[in-house]
Amino acid sequence: FISPIQILVELTEMMQKGLSGFRRFLDVVETEPEIVNAPDAESIDEVNGHVSYENVSFHYSDDDTPVLSNVTFDIPAGKSVALVGPSGSGKTTICSLLPRFYDVTAGKITLDGVDIRNLSLAELRDEIGFVPQKGILFSGTIASNLKFGRPEATEAEMTEAAEIAQATEFINEKPEKYDSGIAQGGTNVSGGQKQRLSIARAIAKNPNVYIFDDSFSALDMKTDAALRKALESKTKESSVISTILHADQILVLDEGKIVGKGTHEELLRDCEVYQQIAQSQLSAKELGLEEGKEEK
Ligand code: ADP
Repeated sequence: FISPIQILVELTEMMQKGLSGFRRFLDVVETEPEIVNAPDAESIDEVNGHVSYENVSFHYSDDDTPVLSNVTFDIPAGKSVALVGPSGSGKTTICSLLPRFYDVTAGKITLDGVDIRNLSLAELRDEIGFVPQKGILFSGTIASNLKFGRPEATEAEMTEAAEIAQATEFINEKPEKYDSGIAQGGTNVSGGQKQRLSIARAIAKNPNVYIFDDSFSALDMKTDAALRKALESKTKESSVISTILHADQILVLDEGKIVGKGTHEELLRDCEVYQQIAQSQLSAKELGLEEGKEEK
């Protein structure tokens, strides 16, 4: 027997919980920096993919500590940069600013010369293939996940993307292949498989700009090397931000500042922070010193 009073108490509790949940939601929404669509957005006729960071400084809205200070670099279409630096130096933040998950606090980022804040969010994000650190999968099938960025991708484009991402072997082992189910968050595939499917999704989108934010960390050395090689020809025309060291230009970050710019060889010679990272943090795999060694 539940008394009317009990019902009333429970109802009130539920309402309060609901309300405080709603308040928490409002708090989150209100503290997020406002990413607004430009009222009269410019449009780029034919995007080449030239990305430029000009004196970019940034701090998260809940914290005044500068996370990036005067970061300047240029990626002509078809070129790549790699971000290198200790944990917390700002690599992920640099990646997050380009699709406007956050807006710069000072300076600007341009795509083909247009400040990205003047483009519509939809147009900007359409141009970018973004692979976050852990990969993201949605509930559905492998196919629906691969075509998420470009639903009109053909079967051939989808399988080509999976091949480049070194994902076909495990996909083909599944009885239902591309129609195999993916659980929300990708909990029914391994970390490395999740990364490969997320990479394949970005490739199937065929974007002008790729961002790989430490997207290769869960791959074994052999897969990593094969993927990198296959990716190189596919991304020839696009600009690429990654943490892959075989980039045209490596940016060395330390506490949100660029402290070195150049090729691996130049930095080993001239940049103290890079030398330290190379000695203490970069694995032989990352330095490309051991390629093929483990396969023996
Ligand atoms: P990295 O990718 O090089 O490890 P991050 O860009 O993730 O570096 O972090 C740079 C700095 O920004 C760190 O000091 C980190 O603690 C801080 N930071 C990262 N994300 C947030 C956030 N959402 N809110 C506040 N501070 C953050």
